[in-house]
Amino acid sequence: MLLEVESLDVRYGRTHAVKALSFGVAQDECITVLGSNGAGKTSLLRALQGLTPSSGGRVIFNGEDITKLSPPQRLRRRLSLVPEGRQIAISLTVHENLQMGAYCRSDSDVARDINGIYERFPNLGARRDMQASVLSGGEQQMLAIGRTLLARPRLIMLDEPSLGLSPLLVERLFELITSLHLEGLAILLVEQNTQMALEVASRGIVMELGRATLTGAAHDLQNNEQLAAAYFGHSSH
Ligand code: ATP
Repeated sequence: MLLEVESLDVRYGRTHAVKALSFGVAQDECITVLGSNGAGKTSLLRALQGLTPSSGGRVIFNGEDITKLSPPQRLRRRLSLVPEGRQIAISLTVHENLQMGAYCRSDSDVARDINGIYERFPNLGARRDMQASVLSGGEQQMLAIGRTLLARPRLIMLDEPSLGLSPLLVERLFELITSLHLEGLAILLVEQNTQMALEVASRGIVMELGRATLTGAAHDLQNNEQLAAAYFGHSSH
């Protein structure tokens, strides 16, 4: 397993947001974490990146216990998060935002990799010297993903990337996630768009009030009546 989460706990005072959660992500796997608002999905991803302290359990990445490591130390081990709401620096240019994504790197390939991002996202290349504030929502999401890719992750975590995007852009986003996965990236995807997430992922984890209440192959979850009723707004019958 590339990522092993063992009995992870996250607490905010009396709120127990993640309760003894255990799961793994293999090198070539795309896993989706589903669940309604407040289920603990964002807390889980933030704790895996080290942005929110965990209050129990262990996180093993690439065979190393990273539970006590800081977010930049985790980034250097090539675990990185595209946060909810994108959180790009809107007063900086597109190019400066991408440079920020590579801040943890000391190699000489950053300029080449930024050009690679412009090739992948020509809209960003065309706006490289413009302030990120002029980008559309879809372009901002691409910038957030591009910035994260510049840390050269082995595992990329995406927190509700489709939020606020038009249906067409959601399609494009899921195509991008599929191609990143095909390129060999492991992916941990938190999504409200249950149906599309289960199409790109091989496995799913459903969280409710901090616990994993349902896990299984994406195909089985797609046909799961309980999940269909809760998240697809209909029963499979
Ligand atoms: P959403 O889809 O709304 O982002 P989520 O599944 O990502 O939901 P979390 O944001 O992780 O859920 O929240 C889990 C629980 O932890 C909720 O009860 C929430 O109110 C609480 N919580 C989250 N962040 C904090 C915080 N910084 N301080 C206190 N409580 C928090």
